[in-house]
This record gives sequence, C-alpha cells and structure tokens, in this order.
Amino acid sequence: MNVEEILAKLVSFPVLGGESNLTLLHWIKEYLESFGVQVHLVPNEEGNKASLHCRIGPADDGGVILSGHMDVVPVKGQEWTTETFVLTDKGDGKLYGRGACDMKGFLACCLATLPKMVEADFKCPIYFAFSYDEEIGCLAAPELAHAIRTHYKETPKYAIIGEPSLMEPIIGQKGIYIMETYVNGSAGHSSRIKQEVSAIHEAMRLILWLENKMDRLIEDNRLDNRFHPPHSSIHIGLVNGGIAPNVIADKAHFYWDLRTIPMDDLFDIVAEYERYCRQREKELQTTFPGFEIKNIEHHPPVPHLDTKEDDEVVELIKRLSGNSKWDTVSYAAEAGQFANEGFQSAICGPGSIAQAHRADEFIEKDQLVKGVAMLENLIKELSHSDFM
Ligand SMILES: [Zn+2]
Repeated sequence: MNVEEILAKLVSFPVLGGESNLTLLHWIKEYLESFGVQVHLVPNEEGNKASLHCRIGPADDGGVILSGHMDVVPVKGQEWTTETFVLTDKGDGKLYGRGACDMKGFLACCLATLPKMVEADFKCPIYFAFSYDEEIGCLAAPELAHAIRTHYKETPKYAIIGEPSLMEPIIGQKGIYIMETYVNGSAGHSSRIKQEVSAIHEAMRLILWLENKMDRLIEDNRLDNRFHPPHSSIHIGLVNGGIAPNVIADKAHFYWDLRTIPMDDLFDIVAEYERYCRQREKELQTTFPGFEIKNIEHHPPVPHLDTKEDDEVVELIKRLSGNSKWDTVSYAAEAGQFANEGFQSAICGPGSIAQAHRADEFIEKDQLVKGVAMLENLIKELSHSDFM
C-alpha cells in the first residue's frame, strides 16, 4: 500500500479523542505484524483503548522514536463539503478528511516507509509510538513514553513527534493547564448585597486576579522571545452564574487556561492563585460561613517542551527535512511528555496546523511526499555506523 492508500484506510476509522480506538489499533497492529514487527500494547484500565509501540532494527542503544496520536477531534457542528471520514481527492493536490492532517498523515508516512525500514541495515533502531486520547489532553503519552523506556533494555535517544508543522522543526511548546473555578456564595435580594456574598462579584475578583497575574509576569520581564506571544498567558473563556438582576447569585463558575513559557512554573502560578482563593474564603466566611471557592483541573497539565536550538535532535531534523529554520508553538502536544522521559524531543510532521481541527481538513499531497522523504532520509542516517 502506498502512503495515500494507507492514509485513506486510517481516516476511515472515526476514532475521536475519548472513544475506544481498538478498531484502528488492531488494523495498524496487523499491518505491522504482516512485516514481521513485534507490537506491544499499552492499554488503559478499562481495556477499551491502547497505545502501541514497536521497534524496528537492532536491540541497541540510541535511535529514534517516531510518535503520533491515533485519535482525532469531532466533526459535529462543522460544515464539511466532503464526506468526513472518507479520504477525498478533489483533484486540487489536496486530500480531504478528518485527521488527514492532524495527524494520520504522519502515521501514514511511517507505515508506508515500514517496508524499507524492515529491509534496511540499521545500526540504531526506529521505534513507533502511537497514542490515543491526545486530543482531549495528551492523556496517554506519559504512560507510553514511560513504557518505551522501561520495556526495552536499550534506550532510544531521540523522539520526533509528527504533529503537522509543514516539516519545520518545532523546538518549544508552552505548558498548558486547563482549570475550572466554582464559587459558592449566598442567595438573597439584590438590595442586601452588603449583607450577603455574591458568587458573581467574587468570581470577577478572581478573574481580575488572574489577569493581573499575567500582567505582573510580563512587567517582571518574564519573557521568552522564542514564543509568540513571548509571555505566559492566562485566559478566561467561559463564565456563567446568576439568574436575575435583582437576585444575588449563589453560584458562579468559570473556565480558564494557563499557557506557560518554560521559565514559569504552572504549579507555582496555580499555588499562588489557590492561596489568594483561601484568603478570600477566610475573609468572606465571616459574612457567609458557606462561602467556598473550588478549583478543579480539567485534565492533568501538559508539560512544556524546551529543546535548545543547538540540541542534536534539532540538527537531525534539519538534516532529515532539509528545513533549516525552527519555530515554537503554543498548542498542546506530546513532545514535552517524551522529553520528560529523557528523550531529546522535537515536533516535525507533514501538513499545516492551520488545517487542523476545522471543516474540510486536508493535507497537501506534496506534504505526504516530504514526510515520506524525511523518513527515507532517516533510514539512510540510521544505516550509517557513526549514528548514535
Ligand atoms: Zn495532533
């Protein structure tokens, strides 16, 4: 099967983040096994999802992990002009379908190059690491990266995460934490606002605290010019609470995200915010003993990626892709999680993030050609005796 045929097959499995991925997983597993590759699964507790990893080449230290996620984002509410889970060639040099770009395109490049990989005379191995539930918070990657480090006696050195980057090396990624805050106040007639505690008024104070915290970080010159914007950001994206202008709101809730540059610690910022919340609670409980602020994480934080411009993995990707520039991103990806497991990591894959997550998602055929070319170059590199 060529890369387009494989991509068509992968797109035909409508596995969304959060859903069971076993159908898609088993197709990939059987494909790998048909080339004599031994596949290992890393299942979730319920047994309805699993990541997979495998090694191609010798049992030696060094080598490269190729990582990607199998799940995609939903299509509900989007206006598609093509069938969402049928890879469609409109004759305009692009292939349309959910996941074509993010990121089954890279998986297809890996699988299409596999026949050459198994034939090659590798001095160092290639590993495949395919995860699930990336799109709902990079949930499976920490366990998968850990499984690779502990399952094999030998340790891979590099990880390339094939998220769509137009084949440009991405060396940094902000840390991401998504939180919800619930405020419990007292109800009452609006005229009694000084005798009651409005959940809305207090929620607004917390929101302002968060915005001021972001501004303080900027004023303190906590900037990393590799990123756009160069500072950590805090943003409140959804607020609700209250029922009428003359009723004091007893409940309010807001949803927010924190995206940190490597020099700022997610947990320090959240801990400082928590201290402010506890202080407000103490002050207002003298007016209303049931006053309470609860902060809940939406999913575990996604760690930042802080690969240096002159790290070997960046040089490697530049050689493989022929792309001499690098960039950073502010979206979530699994690269920081692979880096935390000790693998030098960077993002590089076919397709553009601009086409991800939207209606009529597509990948340019030319990007698939470049993706395959990068992996064929990797085969050559790994066949050299001096590659580590
Ligand atoms: Zn992705």
